Parts: sequence; structure tokens; C-alpha cells
Amino acid sequence: MAPIIVLVALALLIVFFILYKKPGKKVILPDNFKKLLAQHVSYYNKLDEKNKTRFEEKVKEFLGYISIEGVNTDVTFPDKLLVASSAVIPIFGFDKWKYYNLKMVLLYPATFNRSEFLVPGYEKNTLGMIGNGPLQRIMILSKPALHYGFQATPSKENTGIHEFVHLLDKEDGDVDGLPEALLHRKYNTQWLELINQNIETIISGHSDINYYGASNNAEFFAVTSEYFFSSPELFQQNHPELFGLMCNIFQQNPIKPSFKNKNVS
Ligand SMILES: [Zn+2]
Repeated sequence: MAPIIVLVALALLIVFFILYKKPGKKVILPDNFKKLLAQHVSYYNKLDEKNKTRFEEKVKEFLGYISIEGVNTDVTFPDKLLVASSAVIPIFGFDKWKYYNLKMVLLYPATFNRSEFLVPGYEKNTLGMIGNGPLQRIMILSKPALHYGFQATPSKENTGIHEFVHLLDKEDGDVDGLPEALLHRKYNTQWLELINQNIETIISGHSDINYYGASNNAEFFAVTSEYFFSSPELFQQNHPELFGLMCNIFQQNPIKPSFKNKNVS
């Protein structure tokens, strides 16, 4: 399909939902939603009862102010639940975080081609992206990639978390791998040094961090966050220094979920 047609169709869809979706809509979730969370989201299963309830509330809140729509694919409730979980996990250490820089998540039936969205470069098999320019406040995710991130066998990959971490990174205005809104300034130098060292190790072929993380600082932050939340034990074992600093960034320890912010737990 010509890129321009895709863009016009998307623009119409976006305008429609922005006009007709009231912010903060009350969401009624199906009765089995806690069961679905327990089935698909291992992070949720590790939480104590109090934090499980808090997680459920955050999922509900997210679904109340973000539209999730399919492009050439149906969107089921489990799909929505996985998008919301990807959004809530990285911000679960913060008391009142809201994704003000997001309005809509579009799900694609498979990987997609970035150039359809007039994004420079020709990456045919894109799993997810956050929009810029006309697609500002839009996130696009491949549905299979979203589900793969929550498969039963722990992996180091979670496309949903990856894209939401880019949004957290963007909170200070730049997607640059330095989440200034989250990281205390005194850790900035240490964080940037760790990124540089680790990117070198990835490039030399001696790291178990996905090679894509060596693309630039922003991708490093997003890729290591996937690993941090998906297989925290292994991440801590192999990258203790990065693990410690990322607990500071996210204000939580995902191994045995505990939270630094007193208002949170
Ligand atoms: Zn990325």
C-alpha cells in the first residue's frame, strides 16, 4: 500500500478516537481479568496481594485513558491487558505516573515496515515504534511480538516494555537513553559510562545483551530494560552494576518486587 494512503487512513482513525474518546473513561473489565493477568504476566504473580490490587488499578486506569486499536487485526481483551501490563511494569515504582505523551496504541497483525510511516531508514521487520511528527503520541506494536514478550518461558525480550521505556526516556524531551526525569543527576555519569562500556562489550561479541542494544544509548536503555524486567535474576547475575543502577532508575527491584518510594508500597 502506498505510504500516503496508510498515513491518511491512520490520521482519520486517530482524529476519530481523539474526538470520540473521553479521557479518563471508566473502564469495566471482564470478571476473569485477574485470572488472565495471573496466566500471562509473571511480574504480576510475584507481587504481594496489596501490590496485585495496585497493579490491577493501574491497568484499569491505563485502559481508561489510552485507546488500543487494531490495524487489519482484531483487538481482544488479552491483547489490551498485555499492552497495559507493558505500560504499568516500568512505571510501577512511581506513585502517580501517567503517560501524558501517549494517546493511542495501534496493533499490527505482524511486523511492519517503518517506511510506511515515513520514518527514515528501511526497516522491514519492525516489532514496535513510538511515533513522531504526525504520529506524535501514537505507539505501534506488532501483536505477535507483544505476545511473545509475555510467553511462559522467560526470555530477555519484551517489545511492549521496550516501547514504553522509550516513552519514559522521552519524558524529559529526548529519547537519548538518559532518563533525566527518573535518574538522579548524581548517577548520570556512572550510567553513561556503563552504557559505553557495555555497548563496546556487545560489539566485541562478549555480552549476552541483544546486539540491537548497541545501536545507540536509547536502544541500549530500552533493550536492557526488557532484560531487566523479563529475566531479572539472570540480569542481576550477569550485570550486577547495571542491575543496581536500573533499580534506582525504575525505583523498584523486580526480583522480589519491592519499591523505593514509600507512597508506593
Ligand atoms: Zn527501540
